[in-house]
Amino acid sequence: MSDIPLYSDGLTSLRLENTVVTATQQLMANSQLLALAAAVTHDGILITDSSERIVLMNTAAERLCGYTLSEIIGQRPSKYFQGPDTDPATRSLIRKSIDRGEPVSVEIINYHRNGSSYWLQLHITPVHNSLGEVTHFIAVQTDVTARKQAEHELKDQSDFLEKISYTMPVQIYVYDLLEHRTVFLNRSKSTTFGYSADEIIAMGSKVIHQLIHPDDLPRYAAHIQNLADEPDGSVANLEVRGRHRNGEWMTLHCRNTVFTRLPDGRVSQVLGTIQDVSELAISRRRLLELNLQLEQTNNALAELSVQLNDRASAAEIQARELAESRAELYRTNQRLELLAATDGLTGLKNHRIFQEVLRTEYSTCVASHLPLSLMIMDVDSFKSYNDRFGHPEGDDVLRRIASMLPLCVRNEDTCARYGGEEFAVILPRASIEEARVIAERIRTTIAGADWRLVNVTISIGVAELAGDVSSPSQLVTAADQALYHAKQSGRNRVAVFGDISSDELHETRVNASIEAAYSECLHEIVLQKESDLMESMGDSDDSLIETYDATITAWAGVLELRDKETEGHSKRVTNLTVQLARFVGMNEEEVLFVKWGALLHDIGKLGIPDAILHKPGDLTPEEFAIMRKHPVLAYEMLRHIAFIKPAIDIPYSHHEKWDGTGYPQKLRGEAIPVAARLFAVVDVWDALRSDRPYRSAWGVEQVLDYLRANSGSHFDPRAVSAFIAMIETTQISAAA
Ligand code: GH3
Ligand code: MG
Ligand code: MG
Repeated sequence: MSDIPLYSDGLTSLRLENTVVTATQQLMANSQLLALAAAVTHDGILITDSSERIVLMNTAAERLCGYTLSEIIGQRPSKYFQGPDTDPATRSLIRKSIDRGEPVSVEIINYHRNGSSYWLQLHITPVHNSLGEVTHFIAVQTDVTARKQAEHELKDQSDFLEKISYTMPVQIYVYDLLEHRTVFLNRSKSTTFGYSADEIIAMGSKVIHQLIHPDDLPRYAAHIQNLADEPDGSVANLEVRGRHRNGEWMTLHCRNTVFTRLPDGRVSQVLGTIQDVSELAISRRRLLELNLQLEQTNNALAELSVQLNDRASAAEIQARELAESRAELYRTNQRLELLAATDGLTGLKNHRIFQEVLRTEYSTCVASHLPLSLMIMDVDSFKSYNDRFGHPEGDDVLRRIASMLPLCVRNEDTCARYGGEEFAVILPRASIEEARVIAERIRTTIAGADWRLVNVTISIGVAELAGDVSSPSQLVTAADQALYHAKQSGRNRVAVFGDISSDELHETRVNASIEAAYSECLHEIVLQKESDLMESMGDSDDSLIETYDATITAWAGVLELRDKETEGHSKRVTNLTVQLARFVGMNEEEVLFVKWGALLHDIGKLGIPDAILHKPGDLTPEEFAIMRKHPVLAYEMLRHIAFIKPAIDIPYSHHEKWDGTGYPQKLRGEAIPVAARLFAVVDVWDALRSDRPYRSAWGVEQVLDYLRANSGSHFDPRAVSAFIAMIETTQISAAA
């Protein structure tokens, strides 16, 4: 194939040599080979003459067009092979080349005999003779239908992908790490960054620095670096801040994967997407904030509910406490009511309630014509009990008696402490006989009780509402008189008012008048409100003072009834003391209290037993000791009576002596109240100037000498001087 070239210079000419036989034979052999090659090649070979009539066609060409050579020999190929989709421009190109006798190479759509089209790569080469004239055209046809189809499909696909990438809300890019530039960027109208795709591509290697936040660059670089170690196809995520064209910072979500690697494994290109997730980030932040707020609200709610619970329980506690305080208040009120109605020492009804019950039962019994009985009882010789064993022991006796009483009476009876060591029992609907039985039961119960120190007895007076006894107070008086009768009859007994003869009664009345008067008076006074009295005193209510004055004067008269021996004594000493008080310059108010004090100076003697008070002979030391108690008794009697209290000095202190040897408090000198110091002088003066069973009265001078002699020891020297001066003045004026 070297010295006889079949083709030369790109099939531009073909020369035939038939000079020698061997050469001819060789040529024949070569032609056969060539024909064989033409027969086995996959490319179609079609040869036309210079007027474009088909002269030769190989098997591949027959297969391509579907015709046999015999069917179309002498025909023009264009008549059979070209159709509607054959490109007219290509046809005219072929035409022009053939007309010019030039080779042409095109891709063209030909048609099969059955109407189907196929793509050909077509090379047409003119064959020239030695004169340079075109004798033939040789067309070589290569079927490129498969390639063309693939190309079309690829284009369709890339068109499709491109369309998608344009419409995607994410930025897709391919960055070349070696060339440091963006090699691909999807061409959405405007990129995530506000630049056009071309502008970004134009940024070249500066693109990353220009678009990523400087603080995030190291992270971004590390992220890309790490991609090299990731298996291909894996995607790495990263969030960085990116700058928009308008200068605002966006939160970008980047997803990167290795796009291409160099043979040594280095990453050359990175394929990635960038998405602006600022809104998402904002929403996420907002969501976090909301979550936080929700959490805070929840906490607050929890707190609130705890507080509410606390408050609810606090309110509950308050309500409970309130209820408790109410209950306590109720109990306290009950206790107070009970206290107000109860005698503190014995727990029995007190005097006030006694009076109330008596009035009520009186009304009820009178209205229903039923009997009403009353008993008043008094502990016998109780003063001496107190004296011997002391008041606490005495109190114990009163408590024990009080506890026995209810056991002896009926349910409907009312036991009360009448006062001091006196008790009363109101017996509604009880006849005097029933009352007598109950009284007797009380008396024997007490007398028969096991008393620790000495036996205790009581005397009881019983009366019923009948005859002259027709009011509560008359009932009390009757029971009281019966009680005195019982006392006079020897004590430890029951006396019934109706049983007492009129003579006995008269005697009793006289004897009892002293204490009756005293107790009536005392009760009247005590029952008045202390404050009212004080106020009245402050107002200098003359009529009230007159009443008091009259009361006290009458009272002093009663006292004298008891102590006949000293008849007139009270009146005289009172007058003289009042005179002396004025003489020493006391004002009228002071004088009034001096007067009352003088009138009541021996009131304490009410507490001295008759036997001692009226004893004709000398008193024994014990009796004298009892006698000396009268100032204290006076003090005890008077100190609770507000309006008399300022007058208490004389009754309480008239037996004190200037030198401190007196009684009961052994006061000395100025410590002794002035009124008492003045009175002491007058008292002794009057005593010595009076006749007594055991001596006759002393003369004035003798008494004055006595006073002088005891001035500074018994008497206040100034009181003595004043008294003497007053007496002398009086006598001078009397003489004149
Ligand atoms: P009589 O038999 O005549 O009743 O003699 P008496 O000693 O009981 O005389 P009187 O009733 O006058 O004396 C009452 C005494 O009772 C005087 C007083 O000291 C005493 N007394 C009054 N109340 C109480 C009290 O609450 N406790 C004590 N311990 N003694 C009281
Ligand atoms: Mg009494
Ligand atoms: Mg008594």
